[in-house]
Amino acid sequence: MLFSWGLFLSPTLCYSSAMSSLLIKNLGALVTGDLKSPQRDADSVYAEDGIIREIGNGLGQRADIVIDAHGITAIPGLVDSHSHPSIGEYTPAQNSLGWITNYMHGGVTSLISAGELHIPGLPLPPDPRTALSLALVTKKCYDSLRPSGVKVFAGTLLLVPGLTEKDFDEIAAAGIRLVKFIFYDYSHLPDGEAALYVKWARARGIKVKIHSGGVSRSGVSQVAGFEIVSAINPDIVGHITGGPIPMAEEDMLRIVAERDYNVEICSSGNYRMALSLMRAVKTHDAFHRVLIGTDTPGGTGIIPRGILREIAFLSSVAEIAPETAICMATGNVGRVHGLSIGFVQEGKPADIVLLHKIQGSVANDALDSFAKGDLPGISMVIIDGEIRVAGRSQQTPPPERLAAIT
Ligand SMILES: [Zn+2]
Repeated sequence: MLFSWGLFLSPTLCYSSAMSSLLIKNLGALVTGDLKSPQRDADSVYAEDGIIREIGNGLGQRADIVIDAHGITAIPGLVDSHSHPSIGEYTPAQNSLGWITNYMHGGVTSLISAGELHIPGLPLPPDPRTALSLALVTKKCYDSLRPSGVKVFAGTLLLVPGLTEKDFDEIAAAGIRLVKFIFYDYSHLPDGEAALYVKWARARGIKVKIHSGGVSRSGVSQVAGFEIVSAINPDIVGHITGGPIPMAEEDMLRIVAERDYNVEICSSGNYRMALSLMRAVKTHDAFHRVLIGTDTPGGTGIIPRGILREIAFLSSVAEIAPETAICMATGNVGRVHGLSIGFVQEGKPADIVLLHKIQGSVANDALDSFAKGDLPGISMVIIDGEIRVAGRSQQTPPPERLAAIT
């Protein structure tokens, strides 16, 4: 099929700026991803060798590639805090191909795996050797595979009884930075083994996530509310508002009020609970603890615009400032997972999305679109300083104005 309505780059094509420079000028607004100052008064971003070197007004450096943003908005590339990669771009849960490229056209430049548990035929729960092997193999595969440039942080170890400290040495050496409680039999908690897992992970700079709420599509995951989550003491409470089934509302509110865990909102969850969570987040000024993910692909399907929709929901219905909601899907996710992604700041990777109001929207610009509950349209996606989508996205309607390579 020919995309006659705009310049669209195929997954294998890109304007390579590896070892080269990129200047974006004439931005209308710039969102940083940093909650401390989510917007910056700057109209230009200059990157070299994939790293942002300078941000300011009227930058005029010579660059190999110059983009005229024509007054549209730059935000950090979106980071999906909760995804389920399996084998390349194949998603067995939906028997579909190409989902990662489609998410990239929805502005997603990084995916954080919440476990590669959708491998066809994988015995669930896996035995310790299978869980460890799966994590190591998946990590190695995505280390040498970046579909459409998207950074896939895979190899998340599914914690089951019977793992040893040597296993944690092995995943740390492989560069795995996340482990997850989902199939762990919590009747073993009094043994102290789970507490050891958390200790071994933290000693190696590995973050701990827990599947919270009701049973997952697998049918064999463990149920976890306030008591179980507190007993585990994780860094991140996965999909606290449901993925799809949340814990009891009072349990969720107690976690926000009485604990300091980071909490995820996922597109596959319960909207009423997301509203309740955001009320509590406002009361406790806990915006820095909120992460946005999709918890897809899975039974909910493939949602290339899932993160954009979640930002629009939080901005328009929960009345969170759009630039704050964007931080929850960018800088917050990178920071909490210990990864240098999610910020448009000097020294960070040049992962940038240029977007604007869609033709026909009553909004004025991209941020106003989110505030009014409309999705903005994506014009460009840049990953590590390389243009991956130019002109317009294949997954959003066209924005009213496009950025252009000059
Ligand atoms: Zn999940």
